[in-house]
Amino acid sequence: MKIKLPTNVQKAISLLEAAGFEAYAVGGCVRDSLLGKTPDDWDITTSATPEQMKSVFSGFHCIETGIQHGTLTVVIDSSALEITTFRLDGEYEDNRHPKTVEFTCDLTADLARRDFTVNAMAYSPSSGISDPFGGKEDLKNNVVCCVGDADRRFNEDALRILRGLRFASVLDFTIDPETADSIHKNKDLLKNISVERISKELLRLICGAGAHRVLSDFSDVLFTVLPQLQPMYKNSHDNPHHCYDIYEHTLFSLESISPDPVLRFAMLLHDSGKPASKTFDEKGRAHFYGHQKVSAEIAADILAQLKLPNKFRDEVLFLIDNHDRWELYEKSERMKKYLARFGLERTIKLLQVMRADVLSQSPEYHFRLESIAAAEQLAKELAALEPCLTLKSLAVNGRTLINHGIPEGKDLGAVLSALLEEVIDEKIPNDSNALIVRAKEIFEQTKKQS
Ligand code: ATP
Ligand code: MG
Repeated sequence: MKIKLPTNVQKAISLLEAAGFEAYAVGGCVRDSLLGKTPDDWDITTSATPEQMKSVFSGFHCIETGIQHGTLTVVIDSSALEITTFRLDGEYEDNRHPKTVEFTCDLTADLARRDFTVNAMAYSPSSGISDPFGGKEDLKNNVVCCVGDADRRFNEDALRILRGLRFASVLDFTIDPETADSIHKNKDLLKNISVERISKELLRLICGAGAHRVLSDFSDVLFTVLPQLQPMYKNSHDNPHHCYDIYEHTLFSLESISPDPVLRFAMLLHDSGKPASKTFDEKGRAHFYGHQKVSAEIAADILAQLKLPNKFRDEVLFLIDNHDRWELYEKSERMKKYLARFGLERTIKLLQVMRADVLSQSPEYHFRLESIAAAEQLAKELAALEPCLTLKSLAVNGRTLINHGIPEGKDLGAVLSALLEEVIDEKIPNDSNALIVRAKEIFEQTKKQS
C-alpha cells in the first residue's frame, strides 16, 4: 500500500532516515489518505530526540514552541511541519494532562498512546503501513474503537469522549460497543475538560454527516455538556404540525441544513425554549407561544458558556430569534423590507433555517417548501436588481433631522427607521424635502402617543 506524500513530508522523512533515525507520517493524515481524502495537515513521528532533530534540520527554519513535549516545527518548502519524537505519556492528572512525557525508540509504544485505532497508524515509503492495533480493519468496517482499555483511555483524557463522537459523526462511522459503553459510563469526566476544547469538538461533531445518529445515540453525552437541552428529550410536540418529539425534530432539522457551524448550531438550539413555553388548549393540543425568545435566551446562555466568538453568537441568535418569521416567505411582497433590514446573506440563511424546520415537521406541511424556494429566488433577484436600501442610503441622516428640530436620542432613531420602512414600501419618495416633512409628522405623532 502506497500513500502519496507531499514533497515536504517526503523530504523530512528522507532527511531523518538518512541520519539513521526512523520517521513516519502518523495519525489523521494516514487515516484520511487511506480513506481517499486529502489530509488537512501532516504530522510526523520520529525516533530522533528534539536535539537530534535540531541538528538534522539545522539548515532549516525551526520553531521550538513544543519542544518540551518533543515537537519541533520545521519549515520546509515554505510550509510548517510538526515533527514529534516517539512518546510515552506518563500518568495523567485531572483526566486531562499527562504528568510527564517520556521519549522512546519504539514506534508501537508511540502508537499505543493515541486515542483510536484509526488514528494509530504510521506510514513511511520505506516500511509501508505500521498498524499494530488493527486500524486498517476498523477503517474498512467504519468503526471508531479505542486503542487499549476504553475506560482507562477516557480516564486519562476525557476529551477523547467527545473526539470519539466527533470522529463517528464526521467520518460517519459507528462506535465499537465496548468503546460506546465506556463513553456512556465516563461521560461525567467531561466536566473536567476546558470549555474551549469542548466547543471545538462540539462544533465539528454537529457539522458531521453522522451528527443526527451520534446525537441520538449519545444524547446523554450532549446533555452532560449542555444540560439546558435535556428538557427537549422525549418531549412530545402534541400538535399535528409535528411528527417527531422536540429533540428528534431538532436532530432532523440539524441534518436538513448544510454543514455550516452557524446554521447547524442555530438548528441545535432553535427550539430549546419549547419545553418551557408549552401550553395546552382545550382540545389538548400543545402550543409554544413565544418559544423563539426563550430559545434565544437559552442559546445566549449556551453561547456564553462555550465562549464562542461574538460574531458567531450574533449570527446564531438572529436566526433563532427569527426562525418562525413565516411572513418572509408567505408575504414575499415585503421582501424588499426584509432585505433592507437583514441584508441578503442573513435573509437567505433565515430561509435555509425555515426550510430545515419545515422538512422536519409533518409531511403534510411540506408544501411550504415551494414558497420558501420562491422567496429565496425573489430575494436573490431583488438584491441583484438594486442595492439594498439601508439607513445609510436614505436621503436624510440624523444630523439633517436634528437641524430641522427633531431632538437627538431614542425618538430620532425611531423616526429614521419609520422613514426607511415607508421608503421601502414606496409610500414616500427617497427625497430629502419629502423625508423632512414626513419626519416632522412622525415625530409629532410619537410625542402625542407618549
Ligand atoms: P483532525 O486533524 O481531522 O482533527 P487528527 O486525527 O489529525 O484529525 P489531531 O487532533 O490533529 O487529530 O491529532 C493528531 C493525532 O494525534 C491523532 O490522529 C491521534 O493519533 C493523536 N491524538 C490527538 N489528540 C489525542 C488525544 N486527546 N488522545 C490521544 N491521542 C490523540
Ligand atoms: Mg490533524
